[in-house]
Amino acid sequence: MSSSPRRAHCDRCGLPAPTCVCALVARVDNEVEVLVLQHPREAAEAKGSVRLLGLALARCRVVVGEVFEPAALLDLLGGDVSGNALLYPADSQETAELSFFPRLRRLVVLDGTWRKSLRMLHANPLLQSLPRLSIAPEAPARYAALRKARLPGQMSTLEATCAALAQLERAPARYQPLLAAFEDFVAQGAARAGRGADEDRRRAERTRRRSSRAPKVRPCGGRGARVTR
Ligand SMILES: [Zn+2]
Repeated sequence: MSSSPRRAHCDRCGLPAPTCVCALVARVDNEVEVLVLQHPREAAEAKGSVRLLGLALARCRVVVGEVFEPAALLDLLGGDVSGNALLYPADSQETAELSFFPRLRRLVVLDGTWRKSLRMLHANPLLQSLPRLSIAPEAPARYAALRKARLPGQMSTLEATCAALAQLERAPARYQPLLAAFEDFVAQGAARAGRGADEDRRRAERTRRRSSRAPKVRPCGGRGARVTR
């Protein structure tokens, strides 16, 4: 932990100390590499699932940006697009089944809302050239409890990535500890949000009581008092 006098942040996960996720991290030795291209808006999001994913996966790179220099992006893809595939939502018509990718080296994942991911895809032609794969969401997304803005049933980036890797590597058990850790992460976030909401309610109640006790018109005697008729 850093020792900032204002608000201590964890050196490892970068989050404020009370929300540190490091204790939850379940290290996973993934075979297929993961490249997460993270929209800048997501990077600042404490509830984002990619922080936990990046800390847990042995082979994972997270790069923040929206529009990437083509040469730099090609570098991130290992200098050659072959062996790379883009994980894309299941509602897309152009995605292929996982069995089409027996020799995948790297899974490219866009971390952003549906709209932002689409924008990233349009802004980076190299990404458009990658074969796309989709996963069918089997379980209702755990994430909905934490991020209400998501569509119902929409998976978090961590859940979608784990589901894809588990299927690609034919090793579902490998990803169970990380998915369990993610459930804890969501539960902690929901509990904090609940405590926050309780505190807001109590504060509103205190304010209401105070204002009902206070006289409707405050006398402002002394200097500055002025009565106009
Ligand atoms: Zn931490």
